[in-house]
Amino acid sequence: MKRSTRSLDWGFPRWRGYGSAREAAKVRLCDRFGCEEPGNCPAPKAPNSPERWHFCQRHAAEYNSKWDYFEGLEKAEAEARAGAEQRTNAGYASAAHYGWGGSGDGTRSADEMRALEVLGLEADASFDEIRKAWRARAKEVHPDVKPGDAGAAKAFQTAQLAFEILRQAEERREWKG
Ligand SMILES: [Zn+2]
Repeated sequence: MKRSTRSLDWGFPRWRGYGSAREAAKVRLCDRFGCEEPGNCPAPKAPNSPERWHFCQRHAAEYNSKWDYFEGLEKAEAEARAGAEQRTNAGYASAAHYGWGGSGDGTRSADEMRALEVLGLEADASFDEIRKAWRARAKEVHPDVKPGDAGAAKAFQTAQLAFEILRQAEERREWKG
């Protein structure tokens, strides 16, 4: 993974030359991390959001079948993506306009819903439940408990990321009152 340039390169939409340098045409690339296919399949970022991801056909299908979107993302990048979503999803209505994914209660973003899934929680979990589930999970897969276990290390990192997303969302809601 080319992480050195990635973080500086972060942003939507990703416009880049596609194909050989001789071809002048610019094609919008798939928003899936690391994918270089043209992104010609728009998909809503959150159930009530007018914002769209632009995926290639394969990744649009993956996304629509509840693709785990944290997978393959470095922690900082996933947080940047979550942050970008939070900014664009500032005001969503309570009605669900999109049925895909089967999630989204109108108050939680797609990232939060996925973070809840990571922690094995329901969409309406309280923050106390979130904290409890996160602690239990972290204890289970903590590097001190499972030294040298790459799978556990990844699970630990994923749980941390999920909790961080949910914690930030909770704080944001508290600030709004
Ligand atoms: Zn793609």
